[in-house]
Amino acid sequence: MPQSISLTNAQNTPAAIDLDGEDKSWQDMANCLGVDPDLFFPERGASTREAKEVCKGCVVRDDCLEYALANGEKFGIWGGMSERERRRIRRQRALARAAAAAPARTATA
Ligand code: SF4
Repeated sequence: MPQSISLTNAQNTPAAIDLDGEDKSWQDMANCLGVDPDLFFPERGASTREAKEVCKGCVVRDDCLEYALANGEKFGIWGGMSERERRRIRRQRALARAAAAAPARTATA
């Protein structure tokens, strides 16, 4: 069952969602302004292709993706990526941080 955030988001595209306390300047240049929000918050199992097509040429794609990653957006297409794709990025970054924080191993003979 979607949480309240998805119900709010489903009424807008990522470009039109009110981001409390966040830098919203990137939203003004978003490709998805005025696009059908349902494309960006599809029903489970529905195609994300059309939303991703809109995102392809979006000049604020990185800002949008980083916002979604930083805020743990669990639903919808942000920065041209689905939640599953964003989860993969978060995992990769967490692994990279862990590897960077781990003490360097010294070779033993
Ligand atoms: S990357 Fe996609 S979802 Fe994000 S602002 Fe651009 S068009 Fe909208």
